[in-house]
Amino acid sequence: MHHHLPPWRKSAMPSPRPSIIIPTGSGQSTWYYQPYVDAVQKAGGIPRLTSPDLDEEALEALASRMDGLLLAGGGDVDPCLYGQAPHPALGRVDRARDDLELALACLALRRGLPILGICRGIQVLNVATGGTLYQDLPSERPGSLQHGCFQPQFPADHIAHEVTLEPGSLLARTMGREALPVNSRHHQGVDRLGEGWRAVAHAPDGLVEAMEAPGHPFALGVQWHPESLIGLPEHGLRLFAAFVRACGAP
Ligand code: MN
Repeated sequence: MHHHLPPWRKSAMPSPRPSIIIPTGSGQSTWYYQPYVDAVQKAGGIPRLTSPDLDEEALEALASRMDGLLLAGGGDVDPCLYGQAPHPALGRVDRARDDLELALACLALRRGLPILGICRGIQVLNVATGGTLYQDLPSERPGSLQHGCFQPQFPADHIAHEVTLEPGSLLARTMGREALPVNSRHHQGVDRLGEGWRAVAHAPDGLVEAMEAPGHPFALGVQWHPESLIGLPEHGLRLFAAFVRACGAP
């Protein structure tokens, strides 16, 4: 006869922690997403990795349980999705991931659910709203800074350049400053801004490094990798904490 509840029952309390959907690449192992998972978890959310190729019904069920959407880094968006032919320097594309992320992004934008787009994520948000991308910055935007400081040549928290934040923006208020040192692991970038966005951070070469949607409760895309910068005092968990709070965390 047991007189005590097993330990797992003791912590089975209702949780106010929001569910954050993080789509992954097709057939990709999940270790790549660990820094995002850690950051969301530390900020008080429940990270939920989701692989592509969901049918319509599964997508709808997932969306109804989603408190927020995090679009992570990864490969290039298929340029036919913004009406361009592939550039010779285009990287590998994953159309199933593009489709899942674009569908969830449109849904979250429409329903006013919080969205944080990181690196590839800001590019997906731009394409989802009719914007276009530079397919390859070094060849299509000569004179650009070196934005492609990739691992393993560079550590994940390598500061590649500074960004200037738009005073008064959600991003500037969240970070509590108007200039920010950032890492940079991208060869593509935002070109023509999609509908409903405002550019709120720029690199010294003029490239858009962040955008947000005024009027939406929390829709923000950043071109750098904040999940690799939580150890830096200028960054910490600020961005993730603000995002997860917007998703309903206390
Ligand atoms: Mn950059």
